[in-house]
Amino acid sequence: MVMLCKLPIVANLGQALDLISTCVTSLAASEFKKVKSLMITPASDPSFWVRSYPNARDRFRQFAQSAGGTTGFFRHPSAPIEGTQSFGIDTAWFGPRDAANVLMMISGTHGPELFAGSAMQQIWMQDFSHFRSPNTAVFLVHGVNSYGCAKNRRTTENNVDLNRNFIRFDSDHAGGALTQKVQNALSLGGSSGPYARRVLTLLLLLGLRHGLATVTNEITAGQYSRHDGVGFGGNAPEWSNTTLCDLWRDRLSQARRVAIIDWHTGIGGYGDPSFLCFEAPGSLGFARAVDWWGDAVAQSADHFDAGVRPSYNGLLIRAAQEIAQTTGAETTGAVIEFGTYPNKQMLRGLLLDRWLQHAPPTTSEAVKTKLENDLLRLFCPDDRQWQQRVLQAGRHIIHQTVEGLNNWDGATA
Ligand SMILES: [Zn+2]
Repeated sequence: MVMLCKLPIVANLGQALDLISTCVTSLAASEFKKVKSLMITPASDPSFWVRSYPNARDRFRQFAQSAGGTTGFFRHPSAPIEGTQSFGIDTAWFGPRDAANVLMMISGTHGPELFAGSAMQQIWMQDFSHFRSPNTAVFLVHGVNSYGCAKNRRTTENNVDLNRNFIRFDSDHAGGALTQKVQNALSLGGSSGPYARRVLTLLLLLGLRHGLATVTNEITAGQYSRHDGVGFGGNAPEWSNTTLCDLWRDRLSQARRVAIIDWHTGIGGYGDPSFLCFEAPGSLGFARAVDWWGDAVAQSADHFDAGVRPSYNGLLIRAAQEIAQTTGAETTGAVIEFGTYPNKQMLRGLLLDRWLQHAPPTTSEAVKTKLENDLLRLFCPDDRQWQQRVLQAGRHIIHQTVEGLNNWDGATA
């Protein structure tokens, strides 16, 4: 995901370029002590990190079996039936099927962002699964955008941003003239890649005319008219969408309290977590998120109240929350991002992803491979320091979530 920031009046071209680039059931006390003691253990095991989808799948299934989970696999319809080249949504369920409390952690909504989320799921299975209380279940969903995870693309097999696909398709979502202009700019490229500098210049000009906040919202909110564009939300529910909704209706129907984390990368400081909470501000769900994860969530609320939050369409986590709430469950959740690079570079990531999906037939394999590696590094830096920061921060967040879920139960039982 790419997040907006405040966009004040710009004084000069350089400042404007910089600005537009930024657009882009309870545990026993002793068990709590055991969980807390884990937090002082160095959490930087590099073995959690893999950089290929088949290896991530293998790790997920091995850890799930070792931790006593019940695994499932929903093969993507265009994937090979067997072998390391196959791909689909892997699941692991821990605990009773009728547990009142459920923690659901999702990875791989955007393909190159899978590996941090996969590491978070491994951390829970290795270090926290022994401390699950009897009335709590944990549901891990791995590689939800299976095509994107397997092919190293942020989008699905139909160039759809899965995190913009959970909308009602019986309504009109056609964009206006500005949508077309922005998408035309974002689609500039040749046989060797996207024309990033020209794209930025054109976006700047559009921003000066229409307002930078408006243009950045066009880039980030999702669009439904340009199938080969950036942020395309699709014309129908994607396979991942329908598969996930069926899963959630089945697995969350007996839950009373559902915590949801959708792990991503690309927003925030290098290796630092940032929280995008989509519970309604002022709601109990939002208050719990602040209680669990702290001021970072509250700062997110302040940011949104400033009126510059992108009008994100079709978010996956909102769909999961709505399904859980439909059966009467309370929810608390967030998209949790680990930052990688400044948003100017991350915009290039969006351009690379779009270009790779529609690369001209004359493009050499060497060029495509290089740009695919560039894309992966943007969302998953091949840097031990970044990985360690992510592991430590993520482990702390998981601990906070486990404690929050148990206190939530204790407060409302
Ligand atoms: Zn993402």
